[in-house]
Amino acid sequence: MFCKNCGKEIVDGAVFCPYCGANVNAPEPVAQPAKSGAQDNPVAIVGLVLAFIIPLAGLICSCIGYKKAKYEGYANREFALAGIIISIVEMVVSVISMVIFVVWMAMIGSIGVAAVTAL
Ligand SMILES: [Zn+2]
Repeated sequence: MFCKNCGKEIVDGAVFCPYCGANVNAPEPVAQPAKSGAQDNPVAIVGLVLAFIIPLAGLICSCIGYKKAKYEGYANREFALAGIIISIVEMVVSVISMVIFVVWMAMIGSIGVAAVTAL
């Protein structure tokens, strides 16, 4: 038989190749699920998670993750993009609800003033 690693002829049934030390008896490595080859980009995942909890921190992390994915070839670009979108949406929603709250308070205030002046 021949070594799967270095291709030299070795004794049948040998466990390790005497030339390169490879484990020739090991089962063929199972094909890993297709990996893009890109390095993991944990900051993008952290950013996506943070987007739900702390939108501003999520936005920052997601932007860093997105830059890493775009310019440095890291993985999880779609996570970073989702994190950016979610954190922006969350911030817009919180700004809108704050505006609604302020308007609502002002309305209640003016109703109160109107009620007081009516008395
Ligand atoms: Zn070998």
